[in-house]
Amino acid sequence: MSQRSSKAVATLRQPDELIAHGLAPASDLADLTRVAARYAIAVTPEVAGLIDRNDPNDPIARQYIPTTDELVAQPGERADPIGDHTHSPVDGIVHRYPDRVLLKLVHVCAVYCRFCFRREMVGPGKDTALSKPATAAALNYIRAHAEIWEVILTGGDPLMLSPRRLAEIMADLAAIDHVKIVRIHTRVPVADPSRISAEMVEALKAPGKTTWLALHANHPRELTPMAREACARIIDAGIPMVSQSVLLRGVNDDAATLEALMRAFVECRIKPYYLHHGDLAPGTAHLRTTLEEGQALMRALRGRVSGLCQPEYVLDIPGGHGKAPVGPDYLSRANLSREREHHGESRYRIVDYCGDVHLYPPSP
Ligand code: SF4
Repeated sequence: MSQRSSKAVATLRQPDELIAHGLAPASDLADLTRVAARYAIAVTPEVAGLIDRNDPNDPIARQYIPTTDELVAQPGERADPIGDHTHSPVDGIVHRYPDRVLLKLVHVCAVYCRFCFRREMVGPGKDTALSKPATAAALNYIRAHAEIWEVILTGGDPLMLSPRRLAEIMADLAAIDHVKIVRIHTRVPVADPSRISAEMVEALKAPGKTTWLALHANHPRELTPMAREACARIIDAGIPMVSQSVLLRGVNDDAATLEALMRAFVECRIKPYYLHHGDLAPGTAHLRTTLEEGQALMRALRGRVSGLCQPEYVLDIPGGHGKAPVGPDYLSRANLSREREHHGESRYRIVDYCGDVHLYPPSP
């Protein structure tokens, strides 16, 4: 086997390592070094093994292998696209909605996604984790706010914590009466499935509370047999899972790929939850679709898979105003006067999964 196609045995973090493993051309070294100076790189052996070196448009590579497109910022892009800082009362906490908070314990990930909306906040060179005093202050904030029903561990990737540290945090959260749900957002089961050990699964439990785990995956090939087994270990331990995906140009912006991804989630007992429209993170325009393309894909998905397989297509409103569903409308009262002419009363217009329009009477 040549050096260019050798199998990675450790996480690749430098441009020359990507080149040595055939994941980028040698001629890109200088350009990729410029990208790496700004944004973190990490490609685990599992992810590197999924990339087809012969496909210049490989959808896995597009998610993880840097390109110089990332150095091109577009008007409207911003370092904090979903406004975390605007709603951060203390370090590590984002309190955007009354009944829930984000708790950001770590700023490192198993892999670094080229489209990440927190790309200016994660990776080596940033603070790697919330300090102990800051963690204590964040937990005190949760204790002091009785309206907080759900705590969402995010980051960075919370499963980069050791099982021992994660178990400590879960025990702290379990001791807060008003916290009922702990939700953990992670890419680890697909990026580094062996990290989901029995010890890690045990650490996910918060005694007396309900843990949910949200898996981030964007392409059906990411759900490898090892990733599926890691998810099964979590679910078999009584922890329900949901999915979150980002709609990405050249990765999953076609109906067949989205269909396969959603079916794969459901086959793994993971309920599709969110399909995010790409955030306005710096240097990510090449990976964003238009909202109209996203809506057309959601219409196509409605016609291809059952309700069980349907995620909600959402946009995080820039500036910290929260998520809004941006999927297609199926119900309208357009052309009321024309409908009245024909039927003597106004009617709703409902679009079915084939795109055909039907009339529905208003309530008496
Ligand atoms: S795993 Fe999540 S936080 Fe980490 S780089 Fe990817 S999208 Fe960003």
